[in-house]
Amino acid sequence: MAEVRSPLVIPIFIAHQGCPHRCVFCNQESITGRREAASQPMRAAEVVATIDGWLARSGSDSRRAVQVAFYGGSFTALAQGYQEELLTAVRPYLEAGRVGMIRLSTRPDAIDAATVAFLRAHGVGVVELGVQAMDDRVLAASGRGHTVADVEAAVRLLKAGGMRVGGQLMIGLPGESSGSALAGALALARLGPDFVRIYPALVIRGSVLASRFAAGLYRPLSLLQGVARCARLKAVFDHHRIPVVRMGLQPSPSLERDLLAGPYHPAFGELVLARMFFNRVRSLLAAIPADSHRTLSIAPADLSIFRGQRNLSVQRLAALGLSARMRLHLDPGQPRQAPRLLDSP
Ligand code: SF4
Repeated sequence: MAEVRSPLVIPIFIAHQGCPHRCVFCNQESITGRREAASQPMRAAEVVATIDGWLARSGSDSRRAVQVAFYGGSFTALAQGYQEELLTAVRPYLEAGRVGMIRLSTRPDAIDAATVAFLRAHGVGVVELGVQAMDDRVLAASGRGHTVADVEAAVRLLKAGGMRVGGQLMIGLPGESSGSALAGALALARLGPDFVRIYPALVIRGSVLASRFAAGLYRPLSLLQGVARCARLKAVFDHHRIPVVRMGLQPSPSLERDLLAGPYHPAFGELVLARMFFNRVRSLLAAIPADSHRTLSIAPADLSIFRGQRNLSVQRLAALGLSARMRLHLDPGQPRQAPRLLDSP
């Protein structure tokens, strides 16, 4: 069978460009590592140089799809002439078949039917919406400047226009509770995005949250709370068969330098998967009599998430008295993230 390779995504950061204001949690310069002076917006020549550089470094693997991604700002809130300049810079690569598609991120309130038609005409196939929350009170407390109704309308318009739609959700925003986060995930899942990313709200130097944190007006989630909350949200999307393509921000030196507080871990997604795996194993073992011994079958590739970081999950199972009920079996035929107890002991 031919190997299926993930696309090469060439990121082009337009930090904060197009944003009508700063959301309380945001400091794109730290998140993307790009110091974007307002007086030095990204120009077409820089787009071309970035694409050429990535294509040269990636070699000539023609089996790999290539996408150009405009991230880090509100693309469709830019002046249309400027959007056109950036998108037109990619056109020769699209026409030559060297780039298959453009993707971009933007705000839900910066999408209308004319925008969708414009994007399609310029080779955009994927739009990621900064949804962040599906609760108007949380959106208002986070300075987002849009509502849940804007998200609903944007997803409908993009899907009707034949676009793939991604939704970026945050956990731990001001005013959010565990219940409202879960309800928000359900509400987003019902809109049927093609994929989702989940990011924990972090306190980043230079953001509004940093001042609120310093004044004692905002308390971020702990790492444990963030992992547990993200695991509950991922379970919702798993249930609706909506891929969660990323959990946690991409680690970078600039992010780690400017991080003041919050549930950050360079392997946040792994922690969430380990937590979910632990929950499944715990339920399986808790359902059998205390004096039984059964074989727990897992995929060999799941061994590290079964153990958890620094063997934490194994220690928890032992502390709960559950590890004595099982012997571990690594089965290459077992699907990933689907531990099961074998019928015979
Ligand atoms: S979160 Fe998005 S919309 Fe808000 S300031 Fe940052 S880049 Fe702009």
